[in-house]
Amino acid sequence: MLTLDSEVQYLKGIGPRRSRAFAKLGIKTLEDMVTFFPVQYQDRTNVISIKDICEQLQGCIFGRVGKNYERVFSQGLCLLDIEIFDDVSMLHARFFRKKNPYFNIDIFAALKKSFAIGAFVYIYGDVKIERGIKFIVVNDYEIVKNYNDKSLSFNKIIPVYSATEELNQKFIRNTVKNVLDTTGGLYPDMSNLIPDFKSIPKLKSSFAVQKIHYPDTLEEAENARRAFALQEFFVLESALSLSRNNVKKNPKIQRYKIRKTLLTAFKNNLKFEFTKDQRKAINEIFFDMQSIYPMNRMLMGDVGSGKTVVALSAVLFVVENRYQTMIIAPTEILAEQHYLTVSNILAGLDIKTVLATSSELKKKSEREKILAGFENGDIKIAIGTHSLIEERIKFKNLSLVVVDEQHRFGVMQKLAALGKAQSPDILMMTATPIPRSLAMTIYGEMDMTTIMQLPPGRIPVKTYSSNEQTAYKNAIAELKKGNQVYIVYPLIDESDKLALKSAVQESERLSQTWFKDFKVGLLHGKMKPSQKNDTMKKFKNKNLDVLISTTVIEVGIDVPDATIMIIQNAERFGLSALHQLRGRIGRSSKQSYLYLIGNLKSVNARRRFSIMISTNNGFKIAEEDLKLRGPGELIGTIQHGFPEFKAGDLIKDADIIEFTKNSAEKVIADDPNLSKDKNNILRKLIHKRFSDKIKLINVG
Ligand code: ADP
Ligand code: MG
Repeated sequence: MLTLDSEVQYLKGIGPRRSRAFAKLGIKTLEDMVTFFPVQYQDRTNVISIKDICEQLQGCIFGRVGKNYERVFSQGLCLLDIEIFDDVSMLHARFFRKKNPYFNIDIFAALKKSFAIGAFVYIYGDVKIERGIKFIVVNDYEIVKNYNDKSLSFNKIIPVYSATEELNQKFIRNTVKNVLDTTGGLYPDMSNLIPDFKSIPKLKSSFAVQKIHYPDTLEEAENARRAFALQEFFVLESALSLSRNNVKKNPKIQRYKIRKTLLTAFKNNLKFEFTKDQRKAINEIFFDMQSIYPMNRMLMGDVGSGKTVVALSAVLFVVENRYQTMIIAPTEILAEQHYLTVSNILAGLDIKTVLATSSELKKKSEREKILAGFENGDIKIAIGTHSLIEERIKFKNLSLVVVDEQHRFGVMQKLAALGKAQSPDILMMTATPIPRSLAMTIYGEMDMTTIMQLPPGRIPVKTYSSNEQTAYKNAIAELKKGNQVYIVYPLIDESDKLALKSAVQESERLSQTWFKDFKVGLLHGKMKPSQKNDTMKKFKNKNLDVLISTTVIEVGIDVPDATIMIIQNAERFGLSALHQLRGRIGRSSKQSYLYLIGNLKSVNARRRFSIMISTNNGFKIAEEDLKLRGPGELIGTIQHGFPEFKAGDLIKDADIIEFTKNSAEKVIADDPNLSKDKNNILRKLIHKRFSDKIKLINVG
């Protein structure tokens, strides 16, 4: 017998070829099939009489078939017109086909057979008029035997699926309908577990599923979608709540006490006071760390908001207590920068800090010393990249893991990092501020701290849409004041040789023309890490005035005297990338300028430029990005492996997310292992959906 877990290939009429085609749409099982929801609907509720139908209208007609006419045009384009009569009028139903002129086959044979004279037919299509003659270009049709016969796909609202070359609309529609009729009713239901919410009707899930595909009205479709989304988010929030519980349930090994030996020296070494938000963040972090359960916290803050010093406070707190800590960053440059910051702050104090990037670990003598130092506990602070999560790296008593720019790491990489310690305190950092509802679903298993304010005295970067002349002239004026300039080329793919070549050539041209009186450096992803570091260091130490770069500078780099950035072909960047890049300037109390140079033919590009010009607020930009790109893509860039939703919509359903978070928490508080009978279905659904995604969940 077929169940929702049965594979698509066991359906009648679906062989290996079609099941592969369905797999491409993400459909492997019958459950996938019934939750393959329409992307839109065709309203075929009204069948219009032929005399009332107008040009430019999409609509349905019903009538009897009359004679047909064929025509062949050049290049094998063929046309079939069929007369359709209703009570009072007639119009032509038109089909187009293309045929190979070398084969003499009747391309319309099957159609002519179906459209036998006198047959009754429903037609959906686009109405057009040419030379006074009205016709309908057929999009879909259905022949019925008798005048009164009920139609399968007319007189109702019809789902439209995202079809492919291999699977056309009609085939998908029939297959889904078929599966809905046989197994749709088996869809597990939890509607009784979820409290009433707003106007969302209490629908059994199997009924909601039916109605999303075949609603009676468009309003009913939306209600059914919300009802299904409610269940979808409830399962997600329950999973997140369980995983939060799980993290907290096991007391940690490490214990810290505030000793102020290092922390005081650190504060005195800083040239500034912490902002209010930074102080609040540090307090929350220290509070978590002194709890008997491991910390699991996300520190969110716009570029330049000063997350590093907050993280370093936590690092020093650990070292004060004689444990080890590690900071991992997505690039060598960034790791090195952290290393320099830490070294400066700890100058004169006897704390062993090591930079353990891949290039450092390459040197054999160094490597052995470093690995031994980690393992015997001599090295207190390990700073590195992915290098730190390699198998061979072992620690004696690692207790805090800091992940900078965490969205650059995959889920598995983060888990590998956490695997280096027994019960690590975790501090993740991200400079991709996102709207609250999104944050709640994406980082729902973590506590969250947000730094909203920038350090005092920061002047917002001024952003302009510009041309090269203006941008270069202004850049030279800034250079003469002793400031520095970034020029960025978009290399979406760092291995794109042609694009790289043009960036390299362009940098040579610029260094010989506009910027011939200044020291110009080049930075790109294909350079050796040591070369990259070298160039970056030169720029930081002001041995270079202009840095021409691909997007490798996107994250984290801190060069306060860089006050101008010019982005070439800026139309190729998404909003988040532009905002991240802009975060490289405006890092001091001097006025900074961003010049966007690009091709503004596309509406979307113009919109992005104008958003960049009008605001410096990362949250606002993320929201706009969400609107322009849709959540799927944005989430993709924020976190790999995040679940997609069948019916739920992260923007439209923000209220549902908030509601299910609370109601799921209550269910989990009442039944922390989901062992009660009434929670059986919930437990199974969580397991099915998330066991591979959220590793910390421990339900069977
Ligand atoms: P991000 O949050 O983007 O990682 P950083 O931690 O790199 O930002 O900080 C950006 C710059 O601001 C650094 O040069 C840092 O020294 C400086 N900074 C951080 N906090 C303050 C503060 N409270 N007052 C002044 N400058 C600060
Ligand atoms: Mg940073």
